[in-house]
Amino acid sequence: MPVNILDYYSAAEWNAIKSETSRHPTPCIVVDLSIVERKYRDLNTRFPFASIYYAVKANPAVEVLELLRDLGSKFDIASRYELDRVLSLGISPDRISYGNTIKKRSDIKYFYDKGVRLFATDSEPDLRNIAREAPGARVFCRILTEGSETADWPLSRKFGCHPDMAIDLLLLARDLGLTPAGISFHVGSQQREIGTWDSAIAKVRYICNYLEDEGIKLQLINMGGGFPAHYLGKINSMDVYSEEITRYLKEDFGDDLPEIILEPGRSMVGEAGVIASEVILVSKKSSTGLDRWLYLDAGKFNGLIETWDESIKYPLYSEARGEFCEDFIIAGPTCDSQDIMYEFYRNPLPSYIKPGDRVYWLSCGAYTASYASVEFNGFPPIPVYFVRS
Ligand SMILES: *Cc1c(COP(=O)(O)O)cnc(C)c1O
Repeated sequence: MPVNILDYYSAAEWNAIKSETSRHPTPCIVVDLSIVERKYRDLNTRFPFASIYYAVKANPAVEVLELLRDLGSKFDIASRYELDRVLSLGISPDRISYGNTIKKRSDIKYFYDKGVRLFATDSEPDLRNIAREAPGARVFCRILTEGSETADWPLSRKFGCHPDMAIDLLLLARDLGLTPAGISFHVGSQQREIGTWDSAIAKVRYICNYLEDEGIKLQLINMGGGFPAHYLGKINSMDVYSEEITRYLKEDFGDDLPEIILEPGRSMVGEAGVIASEVILVSKKSSTGLDRWLYLDAGKFNGLIETWDESIKYPLYSEARGEFCEDFIIAGPTCDSQDIMYEFYRNPLPSYIKPGDRVYWLSCGAYTASYASVEFNGFPPIPVYFVRS
């Protein structure tokens, strides 16, 4: 079945987005800031007890950051460059968390000198660097979680440590003069299995119990991101996510809930963006070949890197004429044979689609623009425009 645009955008949103794309050459991204605003307010209402730290890496555009600043969001930052940008927008350092567990000692000092006092860690060498360069800071320790099979973009292997190591690190943090503030986890981006939060929260409960016996009462649980955006395929609504996760927290912590932090990235901005691309060529590899290849001017290296391993299945939409649809192999414009977005996963588009027709990639507001190469094959980074529907 071809994609029905109204499953993804209201008529007003689509009109605003499409008319902006029509003013620009392809490829380009158009982000509807009204959708970002709605997502922020919605999450705030569903988790009234939590602080929202927007994960800047998902879409670091100044327009997005200013909007979230004005809505009262806090920010999860991964590098000194993101920090500079956020501070330059007048956001105070007490609204910032340094969430990257992989950092240079000089970067820790940089954050501390700028006033940031909340740091993530998951290893002893990093913790010792924090103690040296950020004396007295609040630290939270990231633990490993399960769920990489049910997340479309897993994040727990490179980051996090075993819960027993987290206990040792938080005890060491106290001995080093830091404030052992809490535990963090990330169940994996685009996490479809809500039960993964349950097992992660149970691990946090175990750690809290252990540390209470050692005289440390943890003050915060950072539950990371992982909430989904609407791509192809079924996902639960945010209602179900928030109800279930709140229930898990109540089961394990009752009324004695520590401060809860959420770090949404994808769910905050993903649905707000659309990539407009144009068909370059439609071709076959032999006269009897059954597969038709559709080459577009947007590809893995200018915005669509999350099609890697066909992980994220973006809905493709075309207004080309013709009632018949066909499954194409979809590839990008560069001279790299990795620049194929979908080969096994087929996405029906009109059979009569031809060079010059536009193909819209829906739900492309997260992990696209800032994830593109700077000039591979000479193609410039994909430009981004903003509208309000
Ligand atoms: C990437 C990241 C996030 C955002 O995750 P989403 O799944 O996009 O919501 C949150 N926290 C940390 C530490 C991250 O690295």
